[in-house]
Amino acid sequence: MSGTGHSHIFHRDLRASYPVAASGEGCWLIDSNGKRYLDASGGAAVSCLGHLHPRVVAAIREQAGKLEFAHTSFFTTGPAEDLADYLTARAPAGFGRVYFVSGGSEANETALKLARQIHVERGEPQRARAIAREQSYHGNTLGVLALGGNPARKELYGPILGLPVSHIAPCYAYRHQREGEGEEAYGLRAAKALEDEILRVGPETVSVFFAETVVGATAGAVPPAPGYFREIRRICDRYGVLMVLDEVMSGMGRTGTLFACEQEGAVPDMITTAKGLGAGHQPIGATLVREDLARVIEGHDGVFRHGHTYIGHPIACAAALETQKVIEEEGLLERVRTAGETFNAMLSARFGQNPHVGDIRGRGLFRAIELVADRDDKTPFPRAKGLANRIRTHAMAAGLVCYPGNGTADGIDGDHVLLAPPFIIDDDELGIVVDRLDAAIRRSLDEVRG
Ligand code: PMP
Repeated sequence: MSGTGHSHIFHRDLRASYPVAASGEGCWLIDSNGKRYLDASGGAAVSCLGHLHPRVVAAIREQAGKLEFAHTSFFTTGPAEDLADYLTARAPAGFGRVYFVSGGSEANETALKLARQIHVERGEPQRARAIAREQSYHGNTLGVLALGGNPARKELYGPILGLPVSHIAPCYAYRHQREGEGEEAYGLRAAKALEDEILRVGPETVSVFFAETVVGATAGAVPPAPGYFREIRRICDRYGVLMVLDEVMSGMGRTGTLFACEQEGAVPDMITTAKGLGAGHQPIGATLVREDLARVIEGHDGVFRHGHTYIGHPIACAAALETQKVIEEEGLLERVRTAGETFNAMLSARFGQNPHVGDIRGRGLFRAIELVADRDDKTPFPRAKGLANRIRTHAMAAGLVCYPGNGTADGIDGDHVLLAPPFIIDDDELGIVVDRLDAAIRRSLDEVRG
């Protein structure tokens, strides 16, 4: 089971050898050789309380001693009910129901299917099409893989993806805002693309629009332009399209508010969340649903045509509830906001003058830097240079876990590094992140420039 010998695990990369993560301590992971890694991305924006948070570990122990599982065809459980109460009490007004799943893909599949069933039960069975954004990622199961707009992820599976879907340009100021165009004007223009697409395909055929509130997957910590989601809300209302915000990465405090959409002044019809919900202590995701939409199902025959064995798993719900209580009781949303500003200032000071850093962006403790071959015309490095992978390798060697990505396709966008440290990270540790990342980026740039 070492990182060097033969493994029976079907790893992500069958040729790679992985260090064996053996234990965790706050913001640090320790491998079986005792090497310590500062976890600056919480894996992929997962471990918002760091590793082995004592209160969450205790909550898991306690629930495991009471009841490990009861199937939701027969029972509900205290932890699931309490977590649903907790989340709906803090969600935007109108959200009354929560569907618990085991991760982000399932949360988005749930939203996609629920939107479809709601339209059918409202007497509009022709509404089947989803609209999402180019470069987006909403998960890897087939429905939401079809939904996403990342060609590299979908290429192989094209023939087995059945969802009718359209993609509009993302709201991505660094690459799409025009010279001299104000931020709000850009936000309105980017939102208008949704209206154009709805009219093009026929409003009566569109079921749902999906977007990440702050984009984590694919492009890296891209906040929306001001007013973008208010305009998206207006357009969805006008054409009877349901609006889903994917907060699988950006939700549960990551951007400084519990739900990232709180900062947008726009309330969607559904919010999906996962990673920070259980903070990695348990696998859990959720689809939050407006009460009026749940009532459509209730008023029909009450049965949502969906379900998984592990929905509402009591140990996962107990871990998530304790995670959320820690965030609230320890004032961690405030900490995310202040640490986020400190981190942003550190990143700007260190990378702002780097000729290959095109953009430094994000909100709260959800930050990214985008790397380019040419800062003036924003040309990315060719994907074949593998810059993001090089950064990952050098960072790991230096004892840093960050989350580099290499965009969607040559010429469209480029390499970035996503940083999503635990909310408990202190300023000294943020300094270590910047030092180690700087060294990893320098070495990688030296290699790709030859
Ligand atoms: N949506 C977004 C925005 C994500 O970042 C991810 C995971 N990277 C998913 C959906 C899929 O979540 P999971 O891997 O838990 O299925």
